[in-house]
Amino acid sequence: MQQKIDVRGHWEQRWHPLRQEWIVYAAHRNARPWLGLTEEHQSNTPAYDPECYLCPRNKRHNGKINPDYKDTFIFDNDHPVVGDGAPDVSISDDPLFRKRRASGIARVVCYDPRHNITLTDMSFPEATAVFLALRTQMQEFRQNPEIQFVLIFENKGEIVGTSNQHPHCQIYATNFTFKNIEQELAASEAYRHDHRGNIFQSILDFEQKDGARIIAENEHAIAFVPFFAQYAYEVWIFPKKRHATLATQSDEELAGLVAAYQQVTRRYDRLFNMPFPYVMPFYQAPVDDRNYGDYHMHLVLLPPLRQPGIKKFLAGPEIGGGNFMADTIPEEKAAELQKIILED
Ligand SMILES: [Zn+2]
Repeated sequence: MQQKIDVRGHWEQRWHPLRQEWIVYAAHRNARPWLGLTEEHQSNTPAYDPECYLCPRNKRHNGKINPDYKDTFIFDNDHPVVGDGAPDVSISDDPLFRKRRASGIARVVCYDPRHNITLTDMSFPEATAVFLALRTQMQEFRQNPEIQFVLIFENKGEIVGTSNQHPHCQIYATNFTFKNIEQELAASEAYRHDHRGNIFQSILDFEQKDGARIIAENEHAIAFVPFFAQYAYEVWIFPKKRHATLATQSDEELAGLVAAYQQVTRRYDRLFNMPFPYVMPFYQAPVDDRNYGDYHMHLVLLPPLRQPGIKKFLAGPEIGGGNFMADTIPEEKAAELQKIILED
């Protein structure tokens, strides 16, 4: 006799309008929502680590000494992926096998002198000061004709390969635009052509009207698990007013972004009772002289965990095929985050 397979729960495909690809959700594979951990996470990490190359007054690999910094400290990466020191290479004009110099600027942004604090745990004014410093960086890069694009990103947690837990993010200012942004630009252009609208605004309108996946909202910013999330606890945070990059945002708007960010990540940390790991890119338009009138910058939180200790592995479908398969459904994960009660 043939065994009947239980297919209750959600099983569907959703279109990712910015990546222009299908995401497959099969939530029946993992039907029960995560209810949260009960044991307390304990951290014995000190505020200052003499071995840490990001702590104040410590020596870095290249022999330079960090200043006795009191808030955000930004320096050029000692082991840059792109940089002024990259050697000249012979430019190949073969249409298939092209190469060129890996020029650009790579920087490290230490959020705070304290080794054992996260952007989530920093006070609201302290975290806002970090975003103000990032805005200054963007304003500077905008003036630099060598720089076409700036990727700001934070890798948080050992599970995403962060070797140093000192709270920091990185900046790659490059002579090319990263693929995900090129894809979003192409999708927004096509949407403008086909529907005479702004794709980002349409997504925001849809999420606001639906409301089921909103995690945080204030006067200036909104955060939600997108309808087409790739990762279980993926959250996107938008300033409500369109800005192509951080460079043009007011102090109040940046504070709104920070407030939404902290609301989301405090829910993460509470749900999992740990500093919840993620990769967080800032998606911004290029900073060359072209007009990116439709682009609406946003922060994207991509957490690798789908349950404590259980990582979403990218395998056959994702690496091999290029499309995401999820065994969770965005509304269910949003509901878990919405249920968390924050003290402040
Ligand atoms: Zn440190």
